[in-house]
Amino acid sequence: MRILRAKEFAINREVEYGSVEQNKVVQNIIQAVIREKDKALIKYTKQFDGVQCANLRVSEQELDEAYGQVDYQFLFALRKASENIRDFHERQKRNSWMDLQEDGSLLGQVIRPLKRVGIYVPGGTAAYPSSVLMNAIPAQVAGVSEIVMVTPPSTNGEEGINPYILAAAKELGIQEVYRVGGAQSIAALAYGTETIRPVDKICGPGNIYVALAKREVYGVVDIDNIAGPTDITILADQSADVSYVAADLLSQAEHDELSTAILVTNSSELASQVQQEVESQLNVLPRKEIASKSINENGAILIVDHIEEGIQVVNELAPEHLEIMVDDPMSILGRIENAGAIFLGRYSAEPVGDYFAGPNHILPTNGTARFSSPLNVDDFFKKSSVIYYSKDAILQNGEYIMQLARQEGFEGHARSIQIRLEKEGE
Ligand code: NAD
Repeated sequence: MRILRAKEFAINREVEYGSVEQNKVVQNIIQAVIREKDKALIKYTKQFDGVQCANLRVSEQELDEAYGQVDYQFLFALRKASENIRDFHERQKRNSWMDLQEDGSLLGQVIRPLKRVGIYVPGGTAAYPSSVLMNAIPAQVAGVSEIVMVTPPSTNGEEGINPYILAAAKELGIQEVYRVGGAQSIAALAYGTETIRPVDKICGPGNIYVALAKREVYGVVDIDNIAGPTDITILADQSADVSYVAADLLSQAEHDELSTAILVTNSSELASQVQQEVESQLNVLPRKEIASKSINENGAILIVDHIEEGIQVVNELAPEHLEIMVDDPMSILGRIENAGAIFLGRYSAEPVGDYFAGPNHILPTNGTARFSSPLNVDDFFKKSSVIYYSKDAILQNGEYIMQLARQEGFEGHARSIQIRLEKEGE
């Protein structure tokens, strides 16, 4: 892991937008699903997952069986995590509101949940039951009545789906699950097929084909975001525990070769100790190959003159995950402007947030914490403005409205006001 002065480090914001070829593949898949519907889903599931699907829909019996297959310690942990996530997101709920004005008018906002939401749960090489919780619980808290899950079948030629994913769905009461993944599942959720009814919004992480498909269908449906590779920045001083810092950097690096793990510190001593510790911890990490590539190609230890400069660097990086391991982490919190999730102090390791504490782990990547937020309950609400104008209000303000309309060349708008002023003003 390289050590350099923070000033020498160039932030790389190039997002992976996929190759021309991958974009083309995804567009073709979407067009095929629009034309051939279920037939296309079955064809692509055979082609990409090696599974000939007889039933796209996962039966209630399969959900029950999966629940019986997973160990009870997992279910217990899942339940505890669900409770924490639900409690945290309950705090984000909002109510519709209406304000009475002095002239008797009412202005307000009606806040309603989206009706039908699709959640993509990656299949492929690993299973992510935590993704089921993080996507579905905020939707449930918002009051979304129909939550649909899509996930590819296991790649063993059988129709089955990883039981841990199905158990998480069952635990949350999600009954509508389809064994289809990739771009074809995103197209099905957006446009609908004979079996899958279209949704209003699609959430959830996936590989490049899933990400490109979500971008393609945005506008037909809403999407959560396009997640890039994950990243972590740790701001630490001499008081930090070297082994904790190294372990936390590696916990992100093991996700993906493209992940970024950065330490910002004002201590050269800590920097070289962490550099050595990362090497020794890497040696015993099962996902060593991925972590090593990530940490050596994208990772860095950035030396700053003092913690104030470190805070500036952090705000420029706008990390997805930020850990602050300095003497008094609370004293710094108020000056952090850009970060997806902020973990304070030596015990708040990033996996605490990934799995358990309650805040969402779907966070803005690639510096987008400058302008966006973690997935939250608001993402599953839509708002309608409400305007009730009284007679007094239209008589008092009609002239202003007509002025603005006529200035824009909209005589018809002006007349819709004028006709009222003439009649009501008599
Ligand atoms: P996936 O479910 O995203 O993708 C599998 C599907 O990709 C297949 O079913 C197939 O339909 C499609 N596909 C594969 N090769 C294709 C090809 N050549 N052409 C067209 N389609 C093809 O599973 P995955 O591949 O294991 O990827 C999971 C991703 O999700 C990883 O990148 C992981 O980092 C990410 N992830 C992110 C988070 C997060 O919170 N940000 C959480 C979990 C997973």
